[in-house]
Amino acid sequence: MPEPKLPERIGRLYELANNLWWSWNPQARDLFRALDYPLWSTTSHNPVRQIHGMSREKLEAAAGDQSFLSLYDTVIACFDADLKGETTWFDINHPERANELIAYFSAEFAFHNSLPIYAGGLGVLAGDLCKEASDLGVPLVGVGFMYPQGYFQQKISDEGWQEENYRQLNFEEAPVNLILTPEGHPLKILVEMENRNILTHIWLVRIGRVNIYLLDTNVEENAPLDRQLSARLYTADREQRIQQEIVLGIGGVRALRALGIQPTLWHANEGHTTFMTLERVRELVAAGISFAEAADRVQQKTVFTTHTPVPAGSDIFPVPMIEKYFQNFWQELGTDRDTFLKLGQQYGSGDQSFNMTVLGMKTASHRNAVSQLHKRVTQRIWHGLWPESQAEEVPVSNVTNGIHALTWVAAEMSRLYEKYLGKDIGQKYDDPDKWKPLFDIPDEEIWKARQQLRTRLIGAMQERVQKCWADGKCTAQQVVGLGALIKPDTLTIGFVRRFTEYKRPSLIFQDIERLKRIINNPWQPVQIVFAGKSHPADFTSKFLLHQVYTVAIDRGFQGRIAFVEDYDMHIARYLVQGVDVWLNTPRRLQEACGTSGMKAAINGVLHLSVPDGWWYEAFNGKNGWVIGESADSFNPSTEDETDAKALYDLLEKEVVPLFYKQDRSGIPHGWIGMMKESIASILPFFNSRRMVKEYVDGMYLNAFDTTK
Ligand SMILES: *Cc1c(COP(=O)(O)O)cnc(C)c1O
Repeated sequence: MPEPKLPERIGRLYELANNLWWSWNPQARDLFRALDYPLWSTTSHNPVRQIHGMSREKLEAAAGDQSFLSLYDTVIACFDADLKGETTWFDINHPERANELIAYFSAEFAFHNSLPIYAGGLGVLAGDLCKEASDLGVPLVGVGFMYPQGYFQQKISDEGWQEENYRQLNFEEAPVNLILTPEGHPLKILVEMENRNILTHIWLVRIGRVNIYLLDTNVEENAPLDRQLSARLYTADREQRIQQEIVLGIGGVRALRALGIQPTLWHANEGHTTFMTLERVRELVAAGISFAEAADRVQQKTVFTTHTPVPAGSDIFPVPMIEKYFQNFWQELGTDRDTFLKLGQQYGSGDQSFNMTVLGMKTASHRNAVSQLHKRVTQRIWHGLWPESQAEEVPVSNVTNGIHALTWVAAEMSRLYEKYLGKDIGQKYDDPDKWKPLFDIPDEEIWKARQQLRTRLIGAMQERVQKCWADGKCTAQQVVGLGALIKPDTLTIGFVRRFTEYKRPSLIFQDIERLKRIINNPWQPVQIVFAGKSHPADFTSKFLLHQVYTVAIDRGFQGRIAFVEDYDMHIARYLVQGVDVWLNTPRRLQEACGTSGMKAAINGVLHLSVPDGWWYEAFNGKNGWVIGESADSFNPSTEDETDAKALYDLLEKEVVPLFYKQDRSGIPHGWIGMMKESIASILPFFNSRRMVKEYVDGMYLNAFDTTK
């Protein structure tokens, strides 16, 4: 579809819609909301689709509406200032680094629901990092995969089983642009695969100042199966997976070269992307440098972030598969089979598997884990790669993950923060001192915002239920399961995350009768809202989801447990902003970091969690609750039982009573006190601004400085 012809006075509206900068700027959101509210709502906040869907008359009307125009002018001025300003944090603090450029590779990026090319936390982290790089002026480009069918849409059947639907992305309704050659043809990148060639197109996504290049194998010249290669995220088929990762790693480097982009530093986000180091070695060898020297140079200029908390979590390929795809490649590298295989072998030369995390560890000199606890776990897992060192000397540092606060904070909360902490809080939110006046916000005001957010979540849930019912797609039972009976003034707990066994979604159901007493207490009722997808090939997790759903529709719980379908970034915003308590129950040492609890905390949602991942370093005794034993000393064989009991105790003795200890106007002062403590101790630290600054100052600067 050609670019829509807009009235001249609002001629840059489409450009704005095509840069996801709008998504984290409240005034820009207001602008599209004001443009055509029904379309804004029915497109799930997708202004590209919205503009295409508008009639000429409506656009003309907007172009003649003074109040719309004044907002438009403000937003455009802000957009230009943010994209072109030369006084960013990076400009000011690192003026001598103006020529550096970081290439950030990730298998998934979660920027916005209009671009469903992510499955979960890894994608959100990558997306938030790019948004922050834009805000801070860090010179960075992203490289990833365009998945035209993305991850699946989830529907729960009447019997409580997950159904998966794939929908083809309509590129014309998404904020993406195909890269063309000067002659106007799609630019194509070539990657050799076994005994054939695969071509890819490149799509550009704009995230403020940061450009993201996504590879897509749906190119006419490719064989039919190859055209499908990039269709979906995380296919379970190993053969397809390795092919995807070859395209991403090797094709990604070639794409940047073809675009004339010359990074000075390369950052591999998780093992999936690490073939990129091999392609860079190949380039140097082709230029006449020895393999050893080339490998050394590449290593000095590579940062690798591992997110894997358990050995089995790595991406692993059998050696014969590596031989099949890389036989020619290692010859081009000027090396032999054994030297090549060693790059991915965890257990030395007899190892029959090639591990992508090992490849990352060995081909990058700058390595990091994603929380303090995860750093220790990582050092233990990969100790074998540095046998002469003590575990605590294994050269892996830590940059704890953070979230892009401007993306995840609710407008109601940020208005309060601006009112009491200063208009510039959005620019300075990683300064803990700035947050001291938070304690002066009147309890009534902050509680009013919290009540509004809970009501908005329930409204969004009920709108979905109502539509499903009206369309004849839901039975009465499903209507209840999806949350028709959820109420606005009740303490609401959220369990919202990818369904997978180690996260223990059904831990809270260990003692059903005890839970019923907690939930159905007539004076102090409790509701639980679940959401999350199971990986299509993970049957254990599908059974867990079924179990949760079965409890939700059990009449004994009186409709107080709900399952929200199709967890994505869109509904995630309602959930992290709207519930009162964020429940997190992973098995210890298995959650590398976790970020959804941070999104909740910055909105005043209290964290109730096992002391794993980020919570291990964030809990200070008064900013939420810890379930069960310490991650330093616990008994894995009784972990489930102990934690379930600790969880019920906390709910009965602390969480529920504190919420319902309200004064005569219904204000729970004790709860609000804890909420303020939580916001002030979490928001300034567990955000992407602190994280990106740590990447720059702690990792990138070291790597910039190597002379090679
Ligand atoms: C934040 C987020 C995640 C990550 O959640 P964790 O609980 O940290 O695993 C996953 N999916 C979506 C849609 C998110 O917004």
